[in-house]
Amino acid sequence: MLDFVVVFTKGGVVLWHSAASGGSFASCINSLIRGVILEERSTEAKYFEEDHLAVQFKLDNELDLVYAAIFQKVIKLNYLDGFLADMQAAFKDKFGGIPAAERLGNEYDFDREYRRVLSAAEEASAKQVKAPKAMRSYNESQKSKKTVASMIQDDKKPPAEKRVNIQESPPPSKSQPSSPPANGATMDDIIRENRRKLREKLTPTKKTSPGDSRPSKAAASEKAGKKPRVWDLGGNSKDAVMLDRSKDTPEDVQYQNINSELVGTMQGVIRDLDVESEDEAEDEEQSSSEEEEQLVQSKKNKRGGLLSYFKGIVGAKTMTLADLQPALEKMRDHLISKNVATEIAAKLCDSVATSLDGKQMGTFDSIASQVKEALTQSLVRILSPKRRIDIIRDALESKRNGRPYTIIFCGVNGVGKSTNLAKICFWLIENDFNVLIAACDTFRAGAVEQLRTHTRHLNALHPAAKHDGRTMVQLYEKGYGKDAAGIAMEAIKFAHDTRVDVVLVDTAGRMQDNEPLMRSLSKLIKVNNPDLVLFVGEALVGNEAVDQLVKFNQSLADYSSNENPHIIDGIVLTKFDTIDDKVGAAISMTYITGQPIVFVGTGQTYADLKAINVNAVVNSLMK
Ligand code: GDP
Repeated sequence: MLDFVVVFTKGGVVLWHSAASGGSFASCINSLIRGVILEERSTEAKYFEEDHLAVQFKLDNELDLVYAAIFQKVIKLNYLDGFLADMQAAFKDKFGGIPAAERLGNEYDFDREYRRVLSAAEEASAKQVKAPKAMRSYNESQKSKKTVASMIQDDKKPPAEKRVNIQESPPPSKSQPSSPPANGATMDDIIRENRRKLREKLTPTKKTSPGDSRPSKAAASEKAGKKPRVWDLGGNSKDAVMLDRSKDTPEDVQYQNINSELVGTMQGVIRDLDVESEDEAEDEEQSSSEEEEQLVQSKKNKRGGLLSYFKGIVGAKTMTLADLQPALEKMRDHLISKNVATEIAAKLCDSVATSLDGKQMGTFDSIASQVKEALTQSLVRILSPKRRIDIIRDALESKRNGRPYTIIFCGVNGVGKSTNLAKICFWLIENDFNVLIAACDTFRAGAVEQLRTHTRHLNALHPAAKHDGRTMVQLYEKGYGKDAAGIAMEAIKFAHDTRVDVVLVDTAGRMQDNEPLMRSLSKLIKVNNPDLVLFVGEALVGNEAVDQLVKFNQSLADYSSNENPHIIDGIVLTKFDTIDDKVGAAISMTYITGQPIVFVGTGQTYADLKAINVNAVVNSLMK
């Protein structure tokens, strides 16, 4: 039985859904959107699983819609292909004429059609199911035909039925080819070949025979070992020993998210994200050899990205909104495809439309440059901080005043709060601040251990001996289940009493709709009055970013009894390394909060922390 059926835009806006048969399917659909649809993963199977649920879906590229059916993973529904195709046809019949721009504000009354399509699909499938076969009598069975002679195995003859069991398959022979079986190979050949490959993978590499002068790969790497890394800071063998993972407890290994061996140095201000400017790209193209010229030329012709949508608008009259509308719609979809939240993409298009309306039309180039200018202005306005957050300057100021500078990190689960807190800690230590990490995620099992591991690694990179005997990072922890606000308060007091420069407060991940947890975050912030509240959000989110930030800010305001509640001061945008050119979350997040992106997480080492580069983001969006 189907649990839930939903029709949504590729940007993630739900247009219609069936009544849910109990349970929540939002998380599964969100994962599908985030993990498959937005990332445009290869989805030939059009099938997705999460926990006990499975989703089969169908993409409608004409209307840019997704039809998804959710069911329990254990159930096999053989009518889904037909059902989803019929859903698509029925939905298109009824709503296909609605222009994309009006699609979101519309009422999608589709219940009746849905019931019709579903029952037709179920009926058709029921007809296909054959009546169960009557049981065979003993005389009719294969068993009755067996004689004692037929049961004696003849080794020379291939067994009539081969069991698919790795353990029982014949040992691999060296003469077996490593290439896939040639055309015409039987299923058994393929299975045997696959088994052999699997066994090769599973069995440890054989020791080289005495006659074989070539050492095996494993033996060679064992012998050579990994060269001890010379650290830029504290680069001595002692550090190398402390970083030796072989001495880690299983607990350490489990929570080790950062590969300390890839850490660089990060003194001074954080470096900007790398950008490949258009000029650089052009230079590269010019320097390419003559053979590549044609390719480059065709690339140039194709280029134009977002601006190419305005190609059709040329002429001598003045532009009207009607002239611009089709191009603006494409531009909106382009921004959504870059992960800008739908609502914000629409607002950006409105602002471009407003600035172009009534202007003189001209050649494509003149329109393109006007669009570019209007959009760039809007984007730069959004991304440019209303106020500058200078943590180093402010932390120094606090230090002079004899009090620790405090930052609280908040956000939903798994976005990289602890990891990026550790990166920021590393950056602070490199700038000679000592840090106290307050382990206030007293909820998620392993959260405290994760911070303990980071603390150990950070101290290994910056041993006290290199800092006039000062321990550069300490962990303030009180285990699990305790009041987070109280632990943060004690930690700040401890830092104050022991003259620690900066306190970084890790908090439990929470969903923006979880009222009790949002209340407790608001309390934690209110009673501890930090210098900075940073919202940690991952760059992978599209429309979800809006919901998270609006609700976090709203809750911090609503549940604080202060007249001037402390809401989000800035953003840590994580996992930027995983999004390619889908940089839209940066726009959405700053648009909603009006606060700057203070740090960008670009990987899993301590040095993977950058400052936002407005031009880089704007260029990426234009492409
Ligand atoms: P938390 O639950 O919010 O504290 O999240 P964690 O700090 O435990 O991070 C969740 C996962 O995201 C871990 O596997 C991290 O290594 C990973 N992660 C965090 N930041 C980044 C980043 O900037 N880039 C990438 N690729 N992964 C990251």
